[in-house]
Formats: sequence, C-alpha cells, structure tokens
Amino acid sequence: MPSRASLASLRQLGEFGLIQRLTQRIGRAGPPVLLGIGDDAAVIRMGPGRLLLLSTDLLAEGIHFDLATATMEEVGYKAAVGNLSDIAAMGGEPQYMLVALAIPAWRTVADVDELYRGLLRACRRHGVHLVGGDTSASPRGLFICITVTGISKTRRALTRDGARVGDLIYVTGTLGDSHAGLKLLRARRKPVSRAPGEGQRRNVRFLVKRHLRPTARVPEGQWLASRRLATATIDLSDGLSGDLGHLCTRSRVGAEIETASLPLSPACRWYARLLHRDPADFALAGGEDYELLFTVSPDNRRRVDRLAQRRGFRFTRIGTIKSRKFGIQVRPPTGPPHAMIPRSYRHFQHLGPTAGPGEA
Ligand code: ADP
Ligand code: MG
Repeated sequence: MPSRASLASLRQLGEFGLIQRLTQRIGRAGPPVLLGIGDDAAVIRMGPGRLLLLSTDLLAEGIHFDLATATMEEVGYKAAVGNLSDIAAMGGEPQYMLVALAIPAWRTVADVDELYRGLLRACRRHGVHLVGGDTSASPRGLFICITVTGISKTRRALTRDGARVGDLIYVTGTLGDSHAGLKLLRARRKPVSRAPGEGQRRNVRFLVKRHLRPTARVPEGQWLASRRLATATIDLSDGLSGDLGHLCTRSRVGAEIETASLPLSPACRWYARLLHRDPADFALAGGEDYELLFTVSPDNRRRVDRLAQRRGFRFTRIGTIKSRKFGIQVRPPTGPPHAMIPRSYRHFQHLGPTAGPGEA
C-alpha cells in the first residue's frame, strides 16, 4: 500500500519538496560524479583539470512562455539563454546543446523554423553547437526541453554551497527589468493610457528586450571561476528572493540584503514608479533576470571591485552573508529589517484553484 506521504498531491508537496524527495530516492553517485542533484548543473570529472557540466530545463507553453506576447524566435532564444545561464553559474564554457520538442500538429513549419532561428542565434553567440534532440507531437501546447553541456578547466566548478558568514553578496547587471518587461508585454507595451513620449518608448523597448532577450553571463562566470574569486554562485532564474534562499540553504548560512543597494535600471525605476510600486520589489520577486548572484570573501572585495571595473563588468554588492540563525532578511533604507519571503514562481503551487481527482 502506498505510504501516506506518497499520497500527497504535488500541489501539497510543492516543486522543491518533490525535488528533495527525488534526491533522497536517487542517492549520491560515486566518483567521477563530483556533484549530482542540487546545483545549477551536475559536475563530472572527465580527467585531470577537466570537468563536464550538464544541465537540462523543460519549458512549457502557458507556464514559462506565452505565444501571445512572444514570437517563436524569441521563445527559442530565451530558452537557450536560460540553459546557458546555468552553465555560466558553474563558471563553465557551454559547448553542446540537445533540443527536444513536443509540438501540436497544427503548428506550421514556419513556427519551427522561427523557433530554431532563435535557438541557433543564441547558440552562435556563445559558440555552442546544437548536436541533436527529439521530436514528438503534443496533445496541447508546445514543450521545449533543452540539455546543455559545458566544460570547466578550473579545479573546482562554482557551486551554491561555498558561502561563509561575513562573505559579501554581489550580483551582475541590473535586477527587476525582466519582471517589468513582462508586465509591459501583458499590458500590450502600453505603460500609460495616453500616447507615450519617446523617452517612455525607449524605456518600454529596453524592459521588453531585457525580458525577451536576456543575457547569459558566461564571461562573468568563467572570469569568477578562473580567478577563484567567488565562494558560491547561483544564477537568478526564479527571482532573487527564491534563488538567494537556495544558495543559503546549500551553504547553510543566512543573509542580509540592503534594498538601497539593489542595482536597478532607470527604466525599471520609471515603470515601478508609474505603477506606484517599489522597484526593489521587482528586483526581489521578479524572475528571469538571468544575472549571477555570487559571494566573495571580504579579503577579496577590493580585488573583485578593481578587476571587474578593469574588465568592464557591472558587479554590485547588495548584502552580506550571515549565520543560518539570522535567517534571510531585507534591510530597507529606513525602518527595521524584515524577513525575506521567497516570492518566486513555484511549480504546482501557481496553478490556480483547479482541483485534481484526489483533491478536496
Ligand atoms: P535551476 O533553476 O537552476 O534550473 P532547478 O530548481 O530546476 O534549478 O533544480 C534544482 C536541482 O534539482 C538541479 O540540480 C536539478 O538538476 C535537480 N532536479 C530538478 N528536477 C529534477 C528531477 N525531476 N529529477 C532529478 N533532479 C532534478
Ligand atoms: Mg540555475
């Protein structure tokens, strides 16, 4: 008879509860698997000074993308970047890609051509070769599953588990733009009811582009790995509030984020103000930034700042690693700090009220 626990619905267990359960069931692999489930990519030793990185992502229409607001080309491009970003977070060089598709029969050949135009464009940009995949009909909606491999020539890959109390927390680029861009796409790119001026149109274009054409921070990741400057790294796919939580859980630490330090683009600030929202909320809760979050020992702070500036990287210090007991807190510019609530997307728990056969 199935145990009580196994009768729980996935909605009750949640995405991360399910992954935890699978992790226990699968168990640890022996060498040469240096790292299995639990990070942005698996790490396998292929020989002296040569690590293979493996990552896969499944994107479902209606959950990860909406073909009413993005073209097939944009969906393809972004799907590839999401995967490349996981290799970037491990400090690796992406190499090969496999693409599996489940697609409704009524879709046209031109749809698939467009999708691959986006995928191949992202691959070319990063010197990645698309070497295979799989094709199936889908009874409903488009599904894209991408697997990417990378290599790391450093002794250790960048992982989520190396942050120590006192380390400084950094992020690349700016945060919240993608969330703002998504909101704009849902509002049909209309920020206000009256006709927007050129400045506003420029902001709209910037934010929408940040959502549809994110950047995988591959050079930044490789740079951090080769200089051994990061103690822990994760890419921000689900939103800072959720992904920082994953890094802290793996590193068994807490963190404090200063909202005044969050890097926000002028366009993101503008749009948040227009909606009477705090742009820091976009940065904390919004997903799909595909920036890197990494931690640095305080001894290396000056080196990181100096070398990053010389290299032209935009790195911003946003907080400090604290003890696990401290938890994860957000310190606003005024007023007391408060606990950071993970508000990122959770699969199975964002599907609305529809009950399945076993649910009340
Ligand atoms: P990311 O957001 O970086 O893609 P995920 O949150 O999807 O990471 O996954 C976290 C970890 O759990 C990864 O190491 C991933 O390989 C693993 N994982 C996720 N789903 C499964 C699954 N169905 N079976 C085995 N491992 C999984
Ligand atoms: Mg990731």
